[in-house]
Amino acid sequence: MRDENCLFCKIIAGDIPSAKVYEDEDVFAFRDINPQAPVHVLVVPKEHVCCAACVTEENSRVVAKCFEAIAKIGKAEGLESGYRVINNCGEDGGQSVMHLHFHLIGGRKLGEKII
Ligand code: 5GP
Ligand code: ZN
Repeated sequence: MRDENCLFCKIIAGDIPSAKVYEDEDVFAFRDINPQAPVHVLVVPKEHVCCAACVTEENSRVVAKCFEAIAKIGKAEGLESGYRVINNCGEDGGQSVMHLHFHLIGGRKLGEKII
């Protein structure tokens, strides 16, 4: 369940402090330490799943739970006019923390490109 060497597992456990914005049984969400927009929240499953490529029939439920949380956080953060959800997967995808997470970015008009 928890990976002792994983930064986000430590944040979920409260061993490393974070600015929490949402938590339920399956999901933890907190503000990115290096925000790219007025709202930049990282939405992570509490279960340690390393990346999008590690999603399986057995663990995909937590991905749905993340997106349920994203919809709630978007409303709570006042992002009625929209936002962007990004997942970086693996080395070529630019993933720097190997615990599945979704960037919820908004609060300003984002460009047409992904980044
Ligand atoms: P990735 O590059 O893996 O898609 O995204 C990792 C994100 O985690 C980056 O946007 C980075 O700013 C954020 N991050 C890295 N370390 C910490 C930390 O200790 N606390 C918080 N809140 N965010 C972090
Ligand atoms: Zn982890």
